[in-house]
Amino acid sequence: MYDVIIIGGGAAGLVAAKLLSESGKKILLLEAKEKLGGRIHCIKNFSFPVEGGAEFIHGNLKTTVSLLKEAGLKKEKIKGNFCRVTNGKWNTEDEPIENWDLLVKKLKECKQDISVDSFLNKFLKAKKYDTVKRQFRKYIEGYDAADPKYANVLAVRDEMEDEDESQYRPVPGYYALINFLKETCLKCNGIIKTGEPVKEIKNNKNVEVITSAGKYLCKQIIITVPLGVLQSKKNNKSFIEFPSSIKKYIAAAKKIGNGGVIKFLLEFDKAFWLEEKFLRERKIPPPSYIFSDAVIPTWWTQYPHQKPLLTGWIAGPASIRMKNYSERKFTNLLLTSLSSIFSIPIMELEGRLKKIKIMNWIKEPHILGGYSYSTLQTERTRDILLTPFEDKFYFAGEFLIKNSSSTVDDALQSGILSAEKIINLK
Ligand SMILES: Cc1cc2nc3c(=O)[nH]c(=O)nc-3n(C[C@H](O)[C@H](O)[C@H](O)COP(=O)(O)OP(=O)(O)OC[C@H]3O[C@@H](n4cnc5c(N)ncnc54)[C@H](O)[C@@H]3O)c2cc1C
Repeated sequence: MYDVIIIGGGAAGLVAAKLLSESGKKILLLEAKEKLGGRIHCIKNFSFPVEGGAEFIHGNLKTTVSLLKEAGLKKEKIKGNFCRVTNGKWNTEDEPIENWDLLVKKLKECKQDISVDSFLNKFLKAKKYDTVKRQFRKYIEGYDAADPKYANVLAVRDEMEDEDESQYRPVPGYYALINFLKETCLKCNGIIKTGEPVKEIKNNKNVEVITSAGKYLCKQIIITVPLGVLQSKKNNKSFIEFPSSIKKYIAAAKKIGNGGVIKFLLEFDKAFWLEEKFLRERKIPPPSYIFSDAVIPTWWTQYPHQKPLLTGWIAGPASIRMKNYSERKFTNLLLTSLSSIFSIPIMELEGRLKKIKIMNWIKEPHILGGYSYSTLQTERTRDILLTPFEDKFYFAGEFLIKNSSSTVDDALQSGILSAEKIINLK
């Protein structure tokens, strides 16, 4: 019998496991996949480690920074520039949306809880706003992985206001933080089992957890599986059968937006986008982010590093439309997009491409999505999920932080909150 069982070995589950085992609780963490980290997923068969999931620290985020410090890890500031490429023509920009100030002004005028689409139709209706409208919609889809039809505009506005412009990468990568959380938990006698998906949870005198390999009992449980799993249907292989007593919690989870993300990693022979001739011809400084009119529109480099990796990104409704594309179809689209952005023939790009990995998170078992976004019902239903059931059932994860940006930092904060609630129980 365990004091606490934690389901899910991503950032939220592991940080909860660390705190609870440090406090002397007898804990078991069950992870469905062979590897810990969840949406932190380092791929090691490129010429250097690459991040297939989370990569950036979006600002000087207290929880992440303090854990990195505790782990003896560092963060590195991202330098470089936003570039926009339209019809093969390159320009640099200060913001991801031209007319950012106008947008911020209009967002401030909006006092109602409405969807992004309703906001655009009401506050930016005139034809002269077409460009800012299009770019804002793309921003919501690309950055928040959200569907403008359902995304809550006030939540987007709050997130934009809170946003710290500085961006960092953890050094050497988020995987080192995951290792630290795991090792600390193990040192404090915590037990971690991977490759063991939970199939069913029963609410008897104690909580009963049934996995692919056995049955475990505990006094309390923290459920940190992604929204996609909570929202999945019985016929899905990632489905978990929850007890009927927590039905209202699962219904609440269905009212939070689950955005799609597909991340593309392409290693080339050389970082041709940083070569002097390339930059001189386009009259641009070294690019970090590239926004374009190509089918796969968003890209970034590893600048200030010279690593020959280009990362492509598609999120929101566009990623949902593409989720069933074959690897071959994606590869064609990626090369066509890069060919139009860099004005390099497809054949030449193909010859220079050394490795490619497509991380389709929408179809990834036990994940089933990219990250969450706020709909018009989210704030109310989040409160339900944050109230423990009978002091036995707790939920945690990136989607459970108010004004969340759905980041690793949110997942860590949420895992810490749930562990503290249990530690502080009388
Ligand atoms: C492509 C991509 C890029 C991102 N980029 C960034 C970024 O740059 N910066 C940033 O801060 N955030 C980023 N994010 C978001 C960030 O990765 C997540 O918010 C965060 O990692 C979520 O942590 P979590 O613990 O809540 O969930 P997860 O990491 O998803 O962990 C949940 C775990 O539960 C496990 N699980 C599911 N079902 C079961 C079951 N039945 N039994 C046992 N275990 C189960 C899953 O396998 C998973 O390991 C990105 C996300 C994606 C997909």
